[in-house]
Amino acid sequence: MRQSQMLVPTLKENPADAECASHRYLVRAGFIRQTAAGIYSYLPLGYRVIRKIEAIVRDEMEKAGCVELLMPAMQPAELWHETGRWHVYGPELMRLKDRHGRDFALGATHEELITSLVRDELNSYKKLPMTLYQIQTKYRDERRPRFGLLRGREFIMKDAYSFHSNPESLDERYQIMYEAYKNIFSRCGLDFRPVIADSGAIGGKDTHEFMALAEVGEDTIAYSDSSDYAANIEMAAVLFKEEKSDEALLPLDTGDVKAGEENSIKIGWYRADDTNVCVLYRAGNEINEVKVKNVLDAAMIEEWAHDGDPFEMKDSVVLLADQALKNVVNGRLDNKNGEVLHYNVNVERDLPHARIADLCMIKEGDPSPDGVGTIRFARGIEVGQIFKIGTKYADAMGANFLDENGKSQPIIMGCYGIGISRTLSAIAEQHHDEFGLVWPKSVAPFTVHIVPVNAKNEAQKLLSEQLYEHLSRDYDVLLDDRDERAGVKFAEADLIGCPIRITVGKKAQEGLIELKDRRTGEQRECAVSEVEEAIREFLNK
Ligand code: ATP
Ligand code: MG
Repeated sequence: MRQSQMLVPTLKENPADAECASHRYLVRAGFIRQTAAGIYSYLPLGYRVIRKIEAIVRDEMEKAGCVELLMPAMQPAELWHETGRWHVYGPELMRLKDRHGRDFALGATHEELITSLVRDELNSYKKLPMTLYQIQTKYRDERRPRFGLLRGREFIMKDAYSFHSNPESLDERYQIMYEAYKNIFSRCGLDFRPVIADSGAIGGKDTHEFMALAEVGEDTIAYSDSSDYAANIEMAAVLFKEEKSDEALLPLDTGDVKAGEENSIKIGWYRADDTNVCVLYRAGNEINEVKVKNVLDAAMIEEWAHDGDPFEMKDSVVLLADQALKNVVNGRLDNKNGEVLHYNVNVERDLPHARIADLCMIKEGDPSPDGVGTIRFARGIEVGQIFKIGTKYADAMGANFLDENGKSQPIIMGCYGIGISRTLSAIAEQHHDEFGLVWPKSVAPFTVHIVPVNAKNEAQKLLSEQLYEHLSRDYDVLLDDRDERAGVKFAEADLIGCPIRITVGKKAQEGLIELKDRRTGEQRECAVSEVEEAIREFLNK
């Protein structure tokens, strides 16, 4: 493609509103432009990368036996009423009315729509399993759209849905999708980790998130320094290790009050769905609300503005205690203001009705939950997630099939998402330097960027045109045919970040050109006749 014919509006300065490297460079290099908060155009260069990512996703999805379809973005409210999500989803769901006053949503996700499609069709075990996917624009009115494409309000997602007659079939599919996702993100050149995650509001049990490692990531990952273990920090189990103590248990509220942080038992108050909850934990630890929510099998949890004495609590409050309290002998129970409520407290003895569980956050330096190595933290960008949903949507929407015995059963579902536009940003976040973007060859907008030093020089122009013609047979080639100063063209080539730059300069007449590896900066002069060999060598490094 000829650069003079493309819309590549590069900027000399960093855009003032850009909060991270990918946002800064994608705007500066002319890949994207913002139209409104969290709503972007993909300019020609950006759209080429999107299409390359999509091609990798399609290839891996087809290899995994998934079939592509395309569903509407505009979805009637009735479907969302069937599952109750018209109300549950909240202000993130973009809503609109048609001319007759009927309510619609712009698809934030497509579980309802696809379930409505299959419920009349996949009505026999003979038609199952099946996995369908689409690549489509999604809408979410995010509270804080930011970081360019990383958190948009309109974004491109690949979403897949699988349908099964038994849980084993779902397990098998989940594993296939897990492997396909690993292939996709590897092929995109991402440094990533699949992590154990929480299923949140979507429902279901097993779920993994695929995290691209990056400082700007909004999630914290806990991973082992010596094994494959990795989990979303909220999901990482804390291993309990009993500490032997020779101390005798003293009667409650008698004798001395023990000072010191390590003897302090703290209290947290929560509301989980409709239940009031009191959580006791050891000072120095932090309550993990996701664990509290999951122990109670609740869908939602929030802090409860309350204070009180757990010894004088009503039956309407559920009492939980973190496992670490088993190691606190003759502890001191403090209220929110640090005032002593009771002392010489031994939780298992004094509060036997307290349910003891793992309720606190893991810490850096803790032993890894799989028993191998030590926990470290890293920041990550969620580029994909896979879920075993189960029958939540089939139950709500009456999607049933007849099993081998002619009995009607709800269809078992899995769902699998990838943020295509977020993946583009995540790649840019991991692949850049002080001069601009440095695309992995698999997703680069062009593989080769030909830059004649002097556009007015006939020999340089001719050779550049010949190379362009010739190399375009095997590679995606961008020819900088603009009448610009060499310095400007070089700087922009670095900013755009194609893997190989070919400079056609003074030695054009002798049939000599120069190749530059964008990533390593390595430069090499070579004869025109050997250019293909040299490109192959550069690309295989
Ligand atoms: P997040 O926790 O970041 O809000 P999510 O868990 O709500 O994301 P999913 O419902 O799992 O997102 O959607 C599947 C994928 O779509 C995500 O893994 C992510 O890559 C992408 N995605 C979700 N929200 C956005 C967004 N606002 N902008 C860009 N990509 C997004
Ligand atoms: Mg998710």
